[in-house]
Amino acid sequence: MKPSQRLYVASDLGQDRVVALDSGQAHYLAHVLRLPAGSAVLLFNGRDGEWLAHLSQIGKKGAEAVCAEQTRTQTPICDLDLLFAPVKGDRTDTIVEKATELGVARIRPVLTERTIVRKLNLERLRSRAAEASEQCGTLFVPEVHDAMSLMSLLDPKAEVRRILFADEAGDAMSIAEALADKPARVALLTGPEGGFTPGEREKLRASPWVRPVNLGPRILRADTATFAGLTLIQNVWGDWT
Ligand code: SAH
Repeated sequence: MKPSQRLYVASDLGQDRVVALDSGQAHYLAHVLRLPAGSAVLLFNGRDGEWLAHLSQIGKKGAEAVCAEQTRTQTPICDLDLLFAPVKGDRTDTIVEKATELGVARIRPVLTERTIVRKLNLERLRSRAAEASEQCGTLFVPEVHDAMSLMSLLDPKAEVRRILFADEAGDAMSIAEALADKPARVALLTGPEGGFTPGEREKLRASPWVRPVNLGPRILRADTATFAGLTLIQNVWGDWT
């Protein structure tokens, strides 16, 4: 019977490898789950698949586990990025958690003219992504990048990626139409509570790799737009098909 507890670790995984767990993980295993030494856990690092490992020692400072057998081989990830304008409160944390569950590879906060939140706690967002990966069964944790400017996205030197620009104003196509030619690399771009400015909209629409998309007849909150947009993308292009 496969253990239920999955832990993300940075170190390499392989037959008989001894993996050090950090103090937070040791505390959780010993004092929350009350697992004794010898208990089995599942480890993944985003590179070596998933391994069943046995806790060889567990204490206040940390714990160690020895890899016993590989339970899942590493699978490739959909080349999907979320480009989103951070929003107030813990909604940004929720966007990171939901984007992870929805299978993005990279989460890139984008500062637009009307973005109110300009400072992000990246460490907290990254641990939120790791927790979501442990819970939802993925074999990787999406990269959470530092905030970037909207215009740097349109820099011709930037890598070519089909950017689906969620545009709440103006004519825009469906996500299914925008992905009909099955591009290799995709990103969803959503704006802040105040939306995009006309100038931003014009620049985005002028870019050859941007496609304006609509998310239905109602104005969604910024966080809802990320959930809905990523779901539609996964359904017509990603790993839900
Ligand atoms: N202040 C704007 C709404 C911004 S909603 C207004 O009141 O009109 C925040 C972001 O969610 C938008 O910038 C857009 O990226 C996305 N969004 C919300 N509803 C959408 C829709 N129906 N179609 C496309 N994008 C939408």
